[in-house]
Amino acid sequence: AAAQVAVHETLPSRVLVGRGARREIPREVERLGARRVLLVATGSARAAADELVGELGARLAARFDRPVVHTPVAVTAQAMKLVEETSADAVVAIGGGSAVGLAKAVSARTGMPQIAVPTTYAGSEVTPVLGETENGVKTTRRDPAIAPGTVVYDPELTLTMPAGLTLTSSLNALAHAVEALWAPDATAVSDALATESIDGILTALPAVLADPTGIAGRERLQESAWLAGLCLARTRMGLHHQLAHALGGTFDLPHAELHALLLAHVMAFNLPSAPKAHARLRRIVGGEPAAVVGRLARSYDGPTTLGALGVPRDGLRAVAERVAAQPYPNPRPPEAEALTRLLEEAW
Ligand code: NAD
Repeated sequence: AAAQVAVHETLPSRVLVGRGARREIPREVERLGARRVLLVATGSARAAADELVGELGARLAARFDRPVVHTPVAVTAQAMKLVEETSADAVVAIGGGSAVGLAKAVSARTGMPQIAVPTTYAGSEVTPVLGETENGVKTTRRDPAIAPGTVVYDPELTLTMPAGLTLTSSLNALAHAVEALWAPDATAVSDALATESIDGILTALPAVLADPTGIAGRERLQESAWLAGLCLARTRMGLHHQLAHALGGTFDLPHAELHALLLAHVMAFNLPSAPKAHARLRRIVGGEPAAVVGRLARSYDGPTTLGALGVPRDGLRAVAERVAAQPYPNPRPPEAEALTRLLEEAW
């Protein structure tokens, strides 16, 4: 499209939302006409997975319970072996972005329909993006066929998230919405999604951290993360996601913790060059946005700096140079010198 013309595209998907929505999964399997389900679930989702196994009965073909972060192709190969041995014809994933990513990888190789049942706030279930790693290199592909056709949001499945994961995963979602506000292809729709998402996350998060089993707060947080995932699906992400991708891939870092500690630094870097996003964020946050997000990030009781995550300080310059050399949209030109300073501060 020409420079002033944004394109808004909506992926066809069926989304079930609400307390107890997981009990609809067998009906959704039936709706797809599937007879042999591959169930992908992490240990953290064992109770829900056990429940589903009972309900699926003979329609369960196989169960795979070892998805790994960043979707290593060797792990996908193990799941593919199960698919072939059992002639599975649909995949259901229950868990965080790692479980959802494995289902996407299996579907990308087979065309199998997917039902994604997320238990974190990463947002992968609504995006057409798949990142895979092989020999320490992460490559990403985008294809509308990769997005799960059915998504089930059951806030009850998020009640078990520990406080730390709740905080870092929420900040991961927040990063999708914040970058959508300064994206060059932002539209009225992505602005609306981002605004409601940011408001919901910043309102619900303190309540959920104070009372992790409060279902109303969990519900709002999950809905806000859904909207953030839609932002990620619809707009081109900028510096924050580039840095997270480069650092995460190079040093094999935990996804949500890395996003959580980076975001305020990137906001402080970009917002002076993104006046419309800055003004909107101020209205939503009611204060200086980077400071508010920074305070939240530092309240995490795990690693809150790149140094604490184990990144060597002398590795920062090379990452900055790599990220500066890559083509992606960002409100402030990301030149290597300034990026090195940003990373030093995050370190
Ligand atoms: P994750 O899926 O690796 O989960 C992190 C940890 O939390 C795991 O140990 C998991 O078992 C546990 N966990 C998950 N849900 C839980 C719950 N409800 N209660 C208790 N423990 C729970 O991490 P993530 O941050 O959800 O996802 C990260 C992965 O997703 C990365 O591989 C990332 O690249 C990918 N991702 C992809 C996209 C995309 O659009 N393609 C978007 C976001 C994330």
